[in-house]
Amino acid sequence: MKKILKEQEIVSPGNDPHTPANINIKSYENNRFYKDLCAPFEGEPTRDRMEVVQSDAKGEGLISLVHINSGQVAFKFFGAFLNEQTLFTLQKSSGLYVEDPFVMGKVLHSCDPNLICDMKTLTFTAIKPIATGDYLTMDYETTEDELYRKFECQCGSQKCKGPIKGRAQSQNQ
Ligand SMILES: [Zn+2]
Repeated sequence: MKKILKEQEIVSPGNDPHTPANINIKSYENNRFYKDLCAPFEGEPTRDRMEVVQSDAKGEGLISLVHINSGQVAFKFFGAFLNEQTLFTLQKSSGLYVEDPFVMGKVLHSCDPNLICDMKTLTFTAIKPIATGDYLTMDYETTEDELYRKFECQCGSQKCKGPIKGRAQSQNQ
């Protein structure tokens, strides 16, 4: 049974209610993926910077609408802390997961990804230049001991690992 932990354990990486002065507050508010979920925070994903798209081959994914330099923060995410995995969780620590079905949960896997995820700060940072229209991708085996849904990767990268099962299982092979 999925259990949502108590409210004070639902965190956002920042809780800064202030947005930079040069941002039109109304359009910013309308671009927020997390509009009804939490107060605005610095680095949160917005619809002017990324978009959820449906692709036949990959299912739903997240593409960037802007150029992102290598080393630049792509976005920080917000989610509910759960004691079990879902399709939209990443693992924070053993037995503890963060669920965000709106943005983070749409990031697709690649064995040669353009993002790295820091689960301490719930931050995605670019590890290569990202062009407008590129899928935002991460390596699921960098956060998950065991994947909620294991799959045979067809990311097409020369570094493709094939079966994606999770950190623990890949290490034990
Ligand atoms: Zn792959």
